[in-house]
Amino acid sequence: MMVRVMASNLYDVLGVSRTASDKEIRTAYRKLARKFHPDVNPGDKAAEARFKEIAAAYEVVGDEDNRKKYDKYGDQWEHADQIEEMQRQRGGSWSFTTGNGAGGDADFGGGDFGSIFENLFRRDRGGPRRQRGPRPGQNIETPIQVSLEEAYRGTTRMLQFDSMQPCQTCKGTGESSGAVCLTCGGAGQVSRPRRIEVKVPAGVATGSRVRIAGEGHPGIGGGPKGDLYLQVTVAGHPRFERKGDDLYVDVDVPVVDAVLGGEVEVPTIDGRVALRIKELTQNGASIRLAGKGMPKLGKSGERGDMYARIRVQVPRSLTDEQRALFEQMRGSAAEAVSAKEG
Ligand SMILES: [Zn+2]
Repeated sequence: MMVRVMASNLYDVLGVSRTASDKEIRTAYRKLARKFHPDVNPGDKAAEARFKEIAAAYEVVGDEDNRKKYDKYGDQWEHADQIEEMQRQRGGSWSFTTGNGAGGDADFGGGDFGSIFENLFRRDRGGPRRQRGPRPGQNIETPIQVSLEEAYRGTTRMLQFDSMQPCQTCKGTGESSGAVCLTCGGAGQVSRPRRIEVKVPAGVATGSRVRIAGEGHPGIGGGPKGDLYLQVTVAGHPRFERKGDDLYVDVDVPVVDAVLGGEVEVPTIDGRVALRIKELTQNGASIRLAGKGMPKLGKSGERGDMYARIRVQVPRSLTDEQRALFEQMRGSAAEAVSAKEG
């Protein structure tokens, strides 16, 4: 059973400082839990309430991840993922300070966070956040890195992370033989390692967030599961440069082909393709290879383009015959200039 903590801040509930180590917090929690456990205080409603408050506080500051969120967002810690998502979408930033012991409410510095927060939940849940009853589980965010080739074709990853799962002792109810379950501290959930294989779709880019529905933490009181989000980074490539869905590649073209036209091979992620070079192609020109770029994320079959950036190559050595031909060309060019001026 989840209890909303109305007392000052959660560190005060456990009688520890904000800078307390994990071990200090655990020790403080155990000591208090033993003291106020309903088995030790039969029929004492005040002790039971205190016990629940202690268990709820420990669920937050006794968990590394939850504690970080609480330190950053105060009583809004459960919405850290949504808050950060909002910040990303709006490009803004909000700063938070957690309760200073006076009231326990978070102070919002900068940004009209309160109304944004309300709008967010009106939109997502069809109403203001409920204090009791079913609540959706938290989302899990996990970073992954893929190569450009993997981003091009799509890939899979085996992930391992800790995830909340229903407590076996109390079967997720938070209560065991009439008292608060000691295994999970009344939360009904415990943290356990999990392994799952996830699909990374073709077309992901650095900064893509891939949602894997229903693979987050379990809901509370029968609420739906949270989601798993992959935060993607695509590694750089020695040959291809990516801009959005387009790819760029440098292609060396012999000066003769640049002047007279010809054909060169261009590397793509799928292998080499032939590219026609038009007469008088300039150094630095970009030639578009339509549809040879990256797949567009979430748009099946659509692709960006590839651009071949032409680098005209001057010969590194000449035969006598070639030198004579270039000399002849120089003479011809000079004639053309004087004819124009004359
Ligand atoms: Zn339990």
